[in-house]
Amino acid sequence: MSTKKTESISSLLNDVARRAANYLDGLDARSVDVSPEAMRGLAAFDEALPDGPTDPAIVLAQLDKFGSPATVATAGPRFFGMVIGGTLPAALAANWLAGAWDQNAGLWVATPIGAKTEEVALRWLLDVLGLPASSGAAFVTGATMDKFTALAAARHAQLQRVGWDVESNGMFGAPPITVVVGEEAHPTLFRSLSLLGFGHQRVIRVPADDQGRIRVHSFPELSGPAIVCLQAGNVNTGAFDPVGEICAKAHKAGAWVHVDGAFGLWASAAPDRAHLTRGLAEADSWATDAHKWLNVPYDCGLAFVREPKSLQDALRLTAAYLPQGNLREPSQFTPELSRRARGVEVWAALRSLGRTGLAEMIERDCRHATRFAEGLRAAGYSILNDVVLNQVLVSFGSPEVTRRIVTAIQQDGTCWCGPTVWQGKTAMRISICSWATTDADVEKSLAAMLRVASHEIAR
Ligand SMILES: *Cc1c(COP(=O)(O)O)cnc(C)c1O
Repeated sequence: MSTKKTESISSLLNDVARRAANYLDGLDARSVDVSPEAMRGLAAFDEALPDGPTDPAIVLAQLDKFGSPATVATAGPRFFGMVIGGTLPAALAANWLAGAWDQNAGLWVATPIGAKTEEVALRWLLDVLGLPASSGAAFVTGATMDKFTALAAARHAQLQRVGWDVESNGMFGAPPITVVVGEEAHPTLFRSLSLLGFGHQRVIRVPADDQGRIRVHSFPELSGPAIVCLQAGNVNTGAFDPVGEICAKAHKAGAWVHVDGAFGLWASAAPDRAHLTRGLAEADSWATDAHKWLNVPYDCGLAFVREPKSLQDALRLTAAYLPQGNLREPSQFTPELSRRARGVEVWAALRSLGRTGLAEMIERDCRHATRFAEGLRAAGYSILNDVVLNQVLVSFGSPEVTRRIVTAIQQDGTCWCGPTVWQGKTAMRISICSWATTDADVEKSLAAMLRVASHEIAR
């Protein structure tokens, strides 16, 4: 590139670094929710497509001036809604460098570093998550696609058992597969199942207990091709299905057991939570989100499959028009060919945290959850779940009062939590999964919740 070109790129990137740092610095002082004024500022984007080019510095200035305030402060330390993690400094920096690289992560030849970081990140992930070391994996977008990917491998293997090649012959006329799910399965599971031709109604739903765990004694007898979908971390309560016990039953019948652990799988990295994750490694596939508790930037979902061959066979490209070598070709394990190099950020996050750093982050967030539950209970409010992980469900009274308080807490802006309905009861859900949340953030947020709640109740 010419010197002049490099100089202007350099000044643009320095400008963006300064703006991004200012943004992150400002998160502590600003409202977590978007202010009405910032919402009005979005009108700045309602303009016609420019006829000609604009200086990139001006484009960036507009985005920062009107865009930055119109973000919800999910990257900050006091966003507790919807199980959304933040971004670790090393992962953010790696994401920027990878952006400059603009690598196509589908192929070794197109990006040796993209493929290498995936390979190393995969090895480290299997280690910290306690999964079989020879498992295969796919780096995809999030929970819907990681389940889709793992369940495509499951569908392949279960139909192969009965002599049906589903990739060649499809689902029309295929031997039926029994699909078993828990009554409290996450809605995204049903979308993944329907994309694979299973249909979201055509499932056996096993009753769950008051924490959302599948009741083992209600688990059906299985025969023939079958896929069982379990949960490590119910999105409301954080509870884990009894994976080991169900694996023992399901495997006797030759069924495939998939574990959805969008956030809960990370508990495997924290020695203090080992009681929850016992038996997890017995399953055949697992899915998790790195953009949640590993705190890498959006988007990054992971699918792990015990038998890498099932994953490869399910997702193989029909024509070998791309270079094939002895190296691990990333695109042989994913539904996509071209995609961004997500392994770079996963590698950077794990490289910077190390085993103990990851364990401490998970454990710290769980401790924060316990503190929220204690503080709210001490003030007389009901905690609806056993707080075993990072999720807390609190009721402030009637459904109307609870909903009003959730809205008022969001408007107060100190922290952000969302409403939910758990087994018929309206609640506020507190989910802690950010590296950035400190004890002080928890105390500040708890104080705000209690202040807003008592004010609303007195109204
Ligand atoms: C968050 C969550 C999802 C949705 O995940 P995305 O990656 O955000 O789409 C699905 N299942 C469970 C259990 C979750 O916690």
